[in-house]
Amino acid sequence: MSATTEKPAIQSLDPAEIEAALAARGQPKYRAAQVIRWLYEKRVTSFEQMTDLPVALRADLAEAFEFVRLENLRVLGSEDTTRKYLFKLPDGALIESVLIPASPALYGEASDRRTLCVSTQVGCAYGCKFCASGLDGFSRNLSPGEIAGQLIEAERLSGERVSNLVFMGMGEPLANFANLMRAIDIINSPWGLGLGARHITVSTSGLAPQIRQLADQPRQIRLAISLHGATDEVRGQIMPVNRKFPLAELLDACAYHASKKKQHITFEYILIEGINDEPAHAADLARVAKLVRAKVNCIPYNAVEGLQWKRPSEARQDAFMEVLERARIPATIRREKGHDIAAACGQLRRQQTQPAQPAA
Ligand code: SAH
Ligand code: SF4
Repeated sequence: MSATTEKPAIQSLDPAEIEAALAARGQPKYRAAQVIRWLYEKRVTSFEQMTDLPVALRADLAEAFEFVRLENLRVLGSEDTTRKYLFKLPDGALIESVLIPASPALYGEASDRRTLCVSTQVGCAYGCKFCASGLDGFSRNLSPGEIAGQLIEAERLSGERVSNLVFMGMGEPLANFANLMRAIDIINSPWGLGLGARHITVSTSGLAPQIRQLADQPRQIRLAISLHGATDEVRGQIMPVNRKFPLAELLDACAYHASKKKQHITFEYILIEGINDEPAHAADLARVAKLVRAKVNCIPYNAVEGLQWKRPSEARQDAFMEVLERARIPATIRREKGHDIAAACGQLRRQQTQPAQPAA
């Protein structure tokens, strides 16, 4: 395994920085537009392929900048065509992205909605008790180019266009704030990948100060909170981050975000048997959702190899949803696609790095 190169990646730069790098090499302004077109429109995989640049300049750029490549090690596809991609980065780190087609039940048979779930870090430092991503701790942040590159590679490998992007893969996006914002810049801008801000969702385990920072930036990207418990008691049991940012502080930050953005937040709520799935827990959830006018998305827990948590029965799930319904909370339950291919974040990578464990 080689060490991470110190060179900046060309895909992590914005147009002004690319222009400056080219100006420093005595190049005219239009060269920046050429490089950007090669990266995001033609989507080449090396500097050599930028054939309208002088040969010497291509060599010079290759010397000065890293060219991010995501090597696809495995693709797992499930019957409903959810596909999971395992990528190897130049330093040997493994990350994963999941491409999820529209649910016909929600969007109709003809929908061409395709959601890509991307990673923002290698591993995760937040150690939620139920999550595979945090089991091996935190290795490093992904660069902007490595984050946006997952979209480019998923489209290349699938031959399909991604219509929605969620930052719900491995890692805590808001703990990699600057790189996340630059990646969103690349993904959202017309010069980049051109995906609309309202089609981009950032998910966080509840970093209150960064939620406020997100509220203060201009893009209308959506925000989801991994709540999973609607009291400090329940949340604190499964999410260590709750000690640092208790529920009241998190809800304040959510209210601030909602008021600045004039958009509804989504509370993600994994249903885990015996932990947070009683009707009384649903009543607590309804109360906090009302406070910040949040929508609720319930997700039956995906079992993780080596962890003891279980998904509740469908009857218990239904009873939980009924409480939310009676309280008139806009709530959906995601009958998880792709749990047959270990689609919960961090699971495929663990199968790869821990071959002693049988694959799902
Ligand atoms: N760190 C961020 C984003 C990545 S996790 C966050 O926590 O929000 C994306 C979502 O997957 C979170 O809501 C997380 O709680 C959920 N998740 C993690 N492990 C899961 C599992 N085994 N089954 C179902 N959802 C899981
Ligand atoms: Fe990290 Fe999110 Fe998993 Fe918690 S749920 S360990 S914050 S990736």
